[in-house]
Amino acid sequence: MNLQGFVCTTCGKFYSSLPQGMICEDCTQQGILDVVYDYQAIAKEFHPTTLRLNPDSSMWRYLSLLPVKEKPKQGLHVGGTPLYSSQAFASQVGLKSLYIKDDGLNPTGSLKDRASIVACVKAIEEGKTILCCSSTGNAASSLAGNAAKLGLQTVIFVPKRIPIGKRTQLQLFGSHVIVVDGDYKAAFQCSKQAIETFGFYNRNAAINPFLVEGKKTVALEIAEQMQFQNIDWVVVSVGDGCTIAGVYKGFYDLFQLGLIKSIPKLLGVQASGCRPFVDAWEHQRDVQESEEQTLADSIAVGIPRNPKKAIRAIQESKGCFVSVSDEAILSTMAFLGKTEGLFVEPASAAGFAGLIEAFQKGIIRSEETVVVINTGNGLKDIENAKKAVSELDITPNDWESVKQLFHKEGIL
Ligand SMILES: *Cc1c(COP(=O)(O)O)cnc(C)c1O
Ligand SMILES: [Zn+2]
Repeated sequence: MNLQGFVCTTCGKFYSSLPQGMICEDCTQQGILDVVYDYQAIAKEFHPTTLRLNPDSSMWRYLSLLPVKEKPKQGLHVGGTPLYSSQAFASQVGLKSLYIKDDGLNPTGSLKDRASIVACVKAIEEGKTILCCSSTGNAASSLAGNAAKLGLQTVIFVPKRIPIGKRTQLQLFGSHVIVVDGDYKAAFQCSKQAIETFGFYNRNAAINPFLVEGKKTVALEIAEQMQFQNIDWVVVSVGDGCTIAGVYKGFYDLFQLGLIKSIPKLLGVQASGCRPFVDAWEHQRDVQESEEQTLADSIAVGIPRNPKKAIRAIQESKGCFVSVSDEAILSTMAFLGKTEGLFVEPASAAGFAGLIEAFQKGIIRSEETVVVINTGNGLKDIENAKKAVSELDITPNDWESVKQLFHKEGIL
């Protein structure tokens, strides 16, 4: 392992091993830790040539840059998702060079698999057999699936409004699901108490510093798929802020290793009905609690748990936050389906809608190279997807009626 230790994102205190509770002993709540690596040691074994010769197409091809002793032997295949060059969507938006990283193709259908499998491996290293988290859905279902494959148990607290597809997925993976009569905040509080009381392995992304490390592999893949060439912007939707923090960390690592010339600007996208980061950004103040009024449930996070790392990602990359309405999210979902053959969930569509918003505001310019990440597969949330398409009429079962429909619908 090339891990040197941990540093507090608030006070800068260094820890050579992870403190009990996973956060800084001096800063408590705000003391989220960052993993620190020995980049000199990594540079010896990690460069484009060794990567080319590495036959592992999963995220474990970046083992040198991950905080685990060894890769799991029996795990699901996480990472190695395609990076598409976008044609129709790009030209409609007005961009010359747009790429889509399809992380909806991970085994349980979202980018969260990258963090969850790291949690499982760390739990095994620590000799724990039960993992626990609270989640609006994907963190939980990815944990449940990856844990199932590795023979681990999961206890998962979910808010009442979790879409039925995601809830069912959890149950199918054999998880102990506890539906809390409340919102995400309530579910988070319950999981925190359960972890403290019973000593479960903690997969709450903001607190556990290893999870951002898993998520960063999406950035490592994007960079490698782009042959370490210049990328101007990477766009991703933001809830807790751990995904964008992970994306930043991946590019930061590559920059430290001299593999990329600059860190791409990051565009963080929130829903208008739940935009604590955008408000903090626009008013230059700390993140405050916000309402959770959006159909994009995976980013409906009223109290983000990782504000420091997310804001740092935007600040240090010279990026920006924007927000988009639910209407924009739905119309972008339909548009993506039509132009790219991609079925994304609302939280993921928010990123794409944010790209359009940023382009229209002049934040992103047409000659810039942009990568947008599909963070989650749309099949899990059919209820909301239905709102993005029209109701279908039933056609009488005779050829005349069918033929008429062809003319009416303008199919021919
Ligand atoms: C979790 C999630 C996000 C946002 O990630 P955060 O770490 O909460 O900011 C975006 N899209 C999807 C599909 C997600 O599951
Ligand atoms: Zn501290």
